[in-house]
Amino acid sequence: MSDLIIPVMMQRTYRAYTLNNFEEIEQFSAVSEEDREAVEVVGRVFPFKTNNYVVEELIDWENAPNDPLFTLHFPRKEMLFPEQYETVKQLIRSDADKEEISQKIEDIRLSFNPNPSGQVHNVPEFNGAKLDGLQHKYRETVLFFPKQGQTCHAYCTFCFRWPQFSKFINLSDQKFVMTQDYEIYMDYLKSKPDVTDILFTGGDPLTMRTSVLASYVDRLLEEDMNQIKTIRFGTKSLAHWPYRFTDGKDADEIIKLFERIADAGKHVAVMAHFNHPKELSTPVVEEAVTRIINTGAQIRTQSPVLNHINNDPAAWSQMWRRQVDLGCIPYYMFVARDTGAKHFFELPLSECHHIFQKAYQGVSGICRTVRGPSMSAHPGKIQILGVSDEPNENVFILRFIQGRNPDWVARPFFAEFDSEATWLDQLKPAFGKSAFFFENELDDYLNP
Ligand SMILES: *Cc1c(COP(=O)(O)O)cnc(C)c1O
Ligand code: SF4
Repeated sequence: MSDLIIPVMMQRTYRAYTLNNFEEIEQFSAVSEEDREAVEVVGRVFPFKTNNYVVEELIDWENAPNDPLFTLHFPRKEMLFPEQYETVKQLIRSDADKEEISQKIEDIRLSFNPNPSGQVHNVPEFNGAKLDGLQHKYRETVLFFPKQGQTCHAYCTFCFRWPQFSKFINLSDQKFVMTQDYEIYMDYLKSKPDVTDILFTGGDPLTMRTSVLASYVDRLLEEDMNQIKTIRFGTKSLAHWPYRFTDGKDADEIIKLFERIADAGKHVAVMAHFNHPKELSTPVVEEAVTRIINTGAQIRTQSPVLNHINNDPAAWSQMWRRQVDLGCIPYYMFVARDTGAKHFFELPLSECHHIFQKAYQGVSGICRTVRGPSMSAHPGKIQILGVSDEPNENVFILRFIQGRNPDWVARPFFAEFDSEATWLDQLKPAFGKSAFFFENELDDYLNP
């Protein structure tokens, strides 16, 4: 096309980059041979996919590979342990047969705890069968994993749901996907009248065509599902592909779907995942946010706190401020879960708390709707409220934001301070107690 011809419709075409074609990314030519090799090697273990928006508008290529957005999307050498890195590198260079390579890679994947925090315990049984693709951990809220939504517009290198996107040879049960007749899920909800919230999740449910998503959502708007008051969508589309909400017919239809839910008298909550202020900086994300909010939907934002990506209070206060400017509500700061390349991304709980505190101190009360840092652990969502100097003991002050047992919520408790601990299971009860107050009961939940 000649430069003089201006297209009538400026529609942005989505282009995915994976292991098969990332060499075609023009900007990638500036990246060193070593970093290129790392993509090939580590990309065999963890899922890797990115797209033209991320490549052209988010990553600062002059700072690759250390640029946070590069690290968020491209596999890096340190995401495997050195020995594993060498093993995979030798394997793919050898003429080992495909099956042997896959088996060895699966062994390495299994060493990365593909199913953290007992998520399998959240899958209920109903009329004698496990409800696949549904999780019900907290009384009010049920998670749906629609079959067609188990992908994302790009994969985050730290993803805690990475097994959803990986081909495990022997472990199909690492995945959560709805395969049963949808009416069975409706019957389950009716059997649990306390459930008021449905959270569509994945993957990213907004990768589905709107008509497919609507076939799940519209059923919830019918008269007999009146108990459902809030429909949430867990999504990273605003960060990975904001054109989902602005460009073309399917975008108009998702906007109409949000309007339809709001018109039915239900609350529409877009649970938007943003990790870095850069993801909030483009004109298209601003337009997308405006279009969503104009439907009556609310956008609540959340992110884990991650080494190499956002381990900086300024990044967080900037993010929260920008989100509020755009009309979003800061919601959660999470601690990275124990899965995948956690050794690369993890931060001690004390550091997570320090980042939260500094960032929170730097913003006005309007931004302080955010809660964190929070661990989504077996017993519930546990927030690190602070570190306190008691006369004889330094302690973490913790509390439940959500609990498997709702009676645990908002109850403070104490753990011995530990400057290295990165997760709840490494903490010990403070003040000489032998167990945390919830531990006996938790055993009953996990091993009924
Ligand atoms: C976080 C979470 C929810 C939602 O909790 P809210 O505090 O209501 O946002 C529901 N189910 C699971 C399993 C969760 O991890
Ligand atoms: S958007 Fe969420 S589910 Fe998708 S890769 Fe990132 S962290 Fe994983």
